[in-house]
Parts: sequence; C-alpha cells; structure tokens
Amino acid sequence: MGTYYRITLIKSAENSVLDLAVAKQQVDKTLQSIIDSMSTYKSDSEITRFNQLTAPACLVVSQDLLDVVALALEVSEASGGAFNPLVGALVNRWGFGSTSFKASEFQLPTDQEILGLLAATDTSSLRLNTAEYSLCKSAEVALDLSAIAKGYGVDKVAETIEQLGVGDYLIDIGGEVRVKGLNPRGEVWKLAIEKPGLQLGSVQQLVNLDAGAIATSGDYRNFIEHQGIRYSHTIDPRSGNPVRHNLASVSVIAANTALADAWATAFSVMGAEQAQLMAQNMSLAVYLLKRENSAQQEPSYSTWHSAAFSQYMQQ
Ligand code: ADP
Ligand code: MG
Repeated sequence: MGTYYRITLIKSAENSVLDLAVAKQQVDKTLQSIIDSMSTYKSDSEITRFNQLTAPACLVVSQDLLDVVALALEVSEASGGAFNPLVGALVNRWGFGSTSFKASEFQLPTDQEILGLLAATDTSSLRLNTAEYSLCKSAEVALDLSAIAKGYGVDKVAETIEQLGVGDYLIDIGGEVRVKGLNPRGEVWKLAIEKPGLQLGSVQQLVNLDAGAIATSGDYRNFIEHQGIRYSHTIDPRSGNPVRHNLASVSVIAANTALADAWATAFSVMGAEQAQLMAQNMSLAVYLLKRENSAQQEPSYSTWHSAAFSQYMQQ
C-alpha cells in the first residue's frame, strides 16, 4: 500500500496465550490478500486484471473487492460524484498512479485530453453481479480504489485481531486509524489530528475515541510541483483537475475505516463550503483545517468541525 502499519494490542485474561508472532503472521496474510486484490501497482492483482480486460467484460473476483466497489459506488453517489472509483486514468495522467514518469517529462494535459479521460469516469459503466461474484464493465474504465482500500484494510485487520481474542487495540495504516476499548493506560484512546505546514508532526487537535475509525485526507503530504504550482493527488472527478482550494486537511470519524477514508477524500474534493453543508446535513463527524492566507509563504490556519464531531474533541 506504499505506507506503514502500526498495531497496538492490549493483552488481557481473554487473550493471555496470544502469540505476537502468530498475530503478525495473520495480519500480514490479511493485508497481503487485500494488496493482491486491490493494488494497481501489481500486474496480477484482481484490479489490474479487471482494468486490462477489453470492454465489455466481467471478471469473477473476491468478496473483498466486491464489498469495496459496492462501498465506493455508495459514497460516489452520496457525495454527488466528488468521490469516484473510476478516476484511475486521470490519476495516471496527472502523475499519481502506477504508470509513473519523470517529473521533468511531465506536461500538463490539454482540456481536450481531460474531456477524453472524464468520459471514462462514468460509474454506470461498472456493474456488480453479486450472485455470480463478478465485476463487469460496459466501457473501458480504470478502477482505482486507493482512496478507500487502506481504510478497508484497517477494518479487515480489526476483524483478524478480534478473532484472536483481542478487545482493546489501535490499528493504523498510513494514518487511517481504528480503535476499540482502552489504551495501555486504561483510558479511552486519544488520537491526534496533525498540524500542517512547517509544523508537520505536531498536534492540532486531540480526539477521544472508544470504538470506531478516523481517517484524514491532507493535501500537504502528497503532491507534485510543476513550474512552481503544487498539484494535489486528489482529483476532482467533475472537472478532471487536481483539487485546488483552501482545505489543508479533512478528518472524518465513522463506525468503519473504509467509510471514513472514502468520505475524507470526498470532502477534500468538495472544498470547505460544500463539505460543511454536507457534513451537517448527513450528521457526519468531520473536522476541517483551512488555509487562510495562502498567498503568503507560511499561511495561517482556521478550523471548523461539524456538530457530530464535538463529542470526540478533547478540550
Ligand atoms: P488521502 O490520504 O489524501 O485521502 P488516499 O491515499 O486516501 O489519500 O487517496 C488518494 C488516492 O485516491 C489518489 O492517489 C488516487 O489514486 C485516488 N483518488 C484521487 N482522487 C479521487 C477521487 N476524487 N475519488 C476517489 N479516489 C480518488
Ligand atoms: Mg482517503
């Protein structure tokens, strides 16, 4: 997945015989099966094989892939297309995908080119055939689940860990986090939303979570710079361009990590104004960090959070 993972699990009477080496083996097996299914960087993953088929076509795939595609399509619809699992061709063209090229060779796509790539993002080309465990496409598409697969991975690791009898844990894959129970000090888990900019690594806001997930999308860690302009790895599927607005980070708390992960990306695409409206309307727990004077070298930041987010905030 191109990132780290970190798991903290608490030993208790129920899992006193737990062998950490065995736990790690199980976790790695769980993660490997997700990578084998959803990595666009693997030539033989399910997703790559699906993308390489000439449309129209169907491929029998794992339950995991069917579940994630179903979730992705749900969030796509609910977010008015801000989240779109068919952004793959645009992501590649903008230099963030598996088909990489040298920065010096990067050329901005023309409007014409973008129009062509946008045509391939129509989610009605994608069909789930759950009775036959297959995924079908009626046109050429480039499925890209990178904005939800990490979160889904956290959820599957949580299942694995719970099956080993662990009731108190923290699972973190590249900043997408799920917790349950209590931390090593016997308290509710405390998580930090980072400060952006030059203060990377320091705490902006502490969050208390006893069960659930938090995912953060930020534009300050992953971007390309071309002729002095920064382009985010998050693409607005409605325009075909990388998002360019004043959101430095979006954190979403939800019952499961896949949903939190996908919604964090969806809100990053929308920008602050639309994100705030939708978060309130849908009663989602959302925390935004907004850049104020972005024209300056070291911008200042303001924050916003939805009503549903307040209950988690450490004062
Ligand atoms: P972040 O932590 O910033 O949300 P993620 O790793 O979760 O980053 O997701 C970023 C990846 O999601 C991109 O590299 C790209 O593959 C994909 N992506 C970009 N824009 C969108 C979008 N609008 N909808 C769905 N996936 C997207
Ligand atoms: Mg995401």
